[in-house]
Amino acid sequence: MWQRQSRRIQWVLLAALGVVLVGVTLWLAGRDAGLTAVRSTHFVMDTVLEQTVYTAGEASGEAVTSEAARVVTEMENRLSAYREGSEILAITEAAGDHPVAVSDETMALLERAVEAGDRTGGLFDITLYPLTTLWDIGGEDFHPPEADAIAGRLEKVDYRTLQLDPEAGTAYLPEAGQGIDLGGIGKGAALDRLQAFYRASGVEHAIVSMGGNILAMGGRPDGDSFRVALRDPSGQDASVGTLRMREGILSTSGGYERYSEWDGERYHHILDPRTGYPAESDLWSASVLGENGADCDWQSTWLFVLGQEEARRQAEALGLSAILIGKDGRVELFGDAVQLFTLQSEHFVLQTGGPTGA
Ligand code: ADP
Ligand code: MG
Repeated sequence: MWQRQSRRIQWVLLAALGVVLVGVTLWLAGRDAGLTAVRSTHFVMDTVLEQTVYTAGEASGEAVTSEAARVVTEMENRLSAYREGSEILAITEAAGDHPVAVSDETMALLERAVEAGDRTGGLFDITLYPLTTLWDIGGEDFHPPEADAIAGRLEKVDYRTLQLDPEAGTAYLPEAGQGIDLGGIGKGAALDRLQAFYRASGVEHAIVSMGGNILAMGGRPDGDSFRVALRDPSGQDASVGTLRMREGILSTSGGYERYSEWDGERYHHILDPRTGYPAESDLWSASVLGENGADCDWQSTWLFVLGQEEARRQAEALGLSAILIGKDGRVELFGDAVQLFTLQSEHFVLQTGGPTGA
């Protein structure tokens, strides 16, 4: 029994759910090997989780996708910055007062996030919570905060003050008013968790999209790669181009995904911890391709904050596989992306890494 599918993400559905668009579109096809493509959509972690798994029958596929959604919901309940009862909100609420016991999984992610802070010189900072809540980008009745309110909150931001005690299994923020927001790493971590879950469930082929992040497993059952389209952030075309993906994670961060407008100005949701304001990036988006979702997630956020020139330098220095889409219309490819990406929009020009481009 097999079934063929070739569809795009249903943007209408996304709009109906009142969420912003993710930066990617998938083309799917499932046939051969007696596998059925089973597709499901859930709203979780404040975004759309779109799973396609290839299983021996529809029933087993549906069981896997609904259990997978449950797994991510469990993570959300634990990691949400806002949800009552989450371990992360407990740390925020206990700031300046007492350490909070956290699960091993949460501890591991916090440690990884702190490491990301170190590696980015603090440009990726999970203690931005006082500012992400002050700005409340995407919230109702948005208006930009006053400069002195921003400055006041900025004093509370420094991931280095977070005290993690893996022995005791506790986390502590020393000052009242501090808080944690894992928004820049949580969805990537969720995809890592899903990958492990699918493997344990015997799923060999899957493609999953979650708020701008993609997990690919095993390629398509027919032996071909999945094709992931990067949406044209400038809105001129449907997509800038497509990336062939077989195995791994692609994480995209962009200022065009989630933003608020006020007085004719756009304010997006990626903040610069140096200023407390939305990062003034000359990139439309930064995408990172790799094996670990949490890492790809913080790296893409970081590259976006850095802006075109510095992001290029870092992508090269670290040997990242990355796609930088500049507001100047340049698409720069690094590492594996050079081979895997195909430009489709005539509004963009391609450059393939190297110190001077090629
Ligand atoms: P998205 O969540 O849209 O996929 P990102 O992965 O880039 O985009 O994460 C953006 C989210 O991360 C914001 O909504 C906010 O919660 C948090 N954030 C914003 N700026 C930073 C930053 N400089 N460092 C760490 N986290 C950030
Ligand atoms: Mg990110």
